Amino acid sequence: MSDKEFSLYAEEEKIISRSNEFISSEEINNVQKLETEYKNLLVNYKKLFKQSKRLIRMSDKMEAELAITKAELEKYSKQLKMQATTDTLTGLANRRKITELLKEEIKKLEEDNNDNFNIIMLDIDFFKKVNDNYGHPMGDEVIKKVSNHMQDKVGSEGVVGRFGGEEFLTILYNNDIQRAALLADQIRSDIESKKIEFEGKQISVTVSMGIACSTETGVYQELLNKADERLYKAKENGRNQVITS
Ligand code: GH3
Ligand code: MG
Ligand code: MG
Repeated sequence: MSDKEFSLYAEEEKIISRSNEFISSEEINNVQKLETEYKNLLVNYKKLFKQSKRLIRMSDKMEAELAITKAELEKYSKQLKMQATTDTLTGLANRRKITELLKEEIKKLEEDNNDNFNIIMLDIDFFKKVNDNYGHPMGDEVIKKVSNHMQDKVGSEGVVGRFGGEEFLTILYNNDIQRAALLADQIRSDIESKKIEFEGKQISVTVSMGIACSTETGVYQELLNKADERLYKAKENGRNQVITS
């Protein structure tokens, strides 16, 4: 109870007690005095009533403001959580999130041996040339288009994350290496045949990929290294290809 409310109650108590005193006193026989006393009481009650109404209005307003603040806080907290895990350019899981998800998959593996999975490390070929020849905004557009395409293709089979500048890590929730290789090669050939348009200019890019399966190693860094080594191999072999072993 606020101080103001408390004083209102005290005020009301005073009026009631004064009324009781008056009723039980001899003065009640004095009509003139009775009338004055009654008028005084009435004035005090009206004042009290007004104050209560103002207090109620104030408390309703405060309650409404509190509800808005709470809703805004919830909205900002959701936005912050999103920002902490999402890459702003592509909308994909950021490096922090995708590595966290990979660690979770590794942990599941330790608990239950049946939960094997594949990872795909993808890197855009000669991407520096895109930036150098067409400018950074075109480079950004290429990153967005490549990531959108991967996301569409992988769908509910896995999760795609932006691992670095133009490097993407995908976790596929199955251990079928043939299926992973087929999907990766579809992504590769789709990207190769895609025309990427930006501000009146049109280009196409290719991508290279390295795949590794959790059946090969259940150690986080070793698994990443295997996918990385194969990606490097794909680059060395002439790029625009998928390497699985
Ligand atoms: P390779 O075929 O061997 O992969 O050659 P590359 O030219 O793609 O080489 P590398 O992977 O080392 O190049 C990465 C470049 O990506 C370097 C960096 O300037 C650029 N980059 C990184 N992040 C971004 C980004 O967010 N936007 C743009 N436009 N460029 C980026
Ligand atoms: Mg590259
Ligand atoms: Mg790179």
